[in-house]
This record gives sequence, structure tokens and C-alpha cells, in this order.
Amino acid sequence: MPDKKKLELEMKLKICKDCKIEKSTESFYISKKSGLWPNCKACVKVKQAQNYQQNRIYIDARQKRYNSKHENKLKTYQKQYQLDNKETIKIQKAEYAKNNVKKLRKIQKTWRQRHPDRKLADTRKRQIQKLHRTPKWLTKSDWIEINWAYTYAKQLTKETGIKHEVDHIIPLRGKNISGLHCPQNLQILTKDQHKSKSNKWPYIIGK
Ligand SMILES: [Zn+2]
Repeated sequence: MPDKKKLELEMKLKICKDCKIEKSTESFYISKKSGLWPNCKACVKVKQAQNYQQNRIYIDARQKRYNSKHENKLKTYQKQYQLDNKETIKIQKAEYAKNNVKKLRKIQKTWRQRHPDRKLADTRKRQIQKLHRTPKWLTKSDWIEINWAYTYAKQLTKETGIKHEVDHIIPLRGKNISGLHCPQNLQILTKDQHKSKSNKWPYIIGK
């Protein structure tokens, strides 16, 4: 109905079909086919929310199906979005953290309790990142290997009663050469071996 559409778009006010309130035409969505929507934006939102509450299971399942079907597309989109909105996201995150201190602390605490062996690996990760010795090319499986080394050292300590530690074969802050925080440069030493090694390189276990 192009005539109705034209007419409606020229109006300044319109009565909402749902709330029966006369509102400015800006309060209505525009439909490509038939001009303004019969109900106002606020009422549309309420209806959508109600619809979601009533059909939650179906809507969530549909969304899930869509997500898994378009996984790669979504990932690319998300990555691009994050790149384009770096500053905004940073501000939003900081704002959220500020307003949810207690909640976030609780989440972190639960996570640490569920992953007791990851604590040390993560602490070291942070410390090492400060030294700028973590290469950018580390893959997901590299990180799994790195984390595993810390878990394994802890397990060895538990099983043998002798303290084992993860060592960087080439020290991260060596005298002449500095190593990287990567699986190839990790080994597990006892605390004593680790101590006697200090920052000397090359070093062979047992010497
Ligand atoms: Zn309304």
C-alpha cells in the first residue's frame, strides 16, 4: 500500500495499536512494505521480550543451531568487531569490572578451586610476560604443553616428596643469551638442580 505508506510517513503523530497512546511517528519502526508499524517501538520490545520468555527453549535452540552452522563466519565477525572496537571494549570491560568486583572475585575463586594446578602456570605466565620472553607464535597446543609442564612438576613433587620445578633450559634472562617461554625451552628439574643451575648456560643435568 504505497499510498498509506506515504501518508503515514508524512504524519507527525500516530496512535499505537497496543498501548493506545498517541506518539510521535519517530516512536514507530518503519516497515518497508506498509509504512509505520501498528504498534510503537516500546510495545514491540515488550512483545519481543514476552515472546522470548514464552518460547525460550525453542529460540535458544534455534540460536544454537544457527551459531554452530555459521561458526566460522561468526568467529571472523567477532574478531573483526573486536579489532574495530578495541577502545570501546576496553572501556566497557573496565566499567563492568568496576561495577562487579564481588561477582568477578567469586568467579575467579571458583575457577582457581577447579583448576588448582593451573595457578602456578598462570602466575609464571604473567611474570614471564613482563620479561617479554613469550613468543607471539605460540599455538593453543603449545600452551597446553606449557601448562602441562607445571602440572607435571607438581605431580612429581607430590609423588616423590622432592620438590620439582619447571626450568627454562636457556634462561629467560641469561648473561649472553636469553631463552623463550615455549615448550621447547622447558624442562623439569628438582629444586636443588634448579638452584645450582642459576643463570649459567649451557647446563647439563647432573653436572
Ligand atoms: Zn505502544
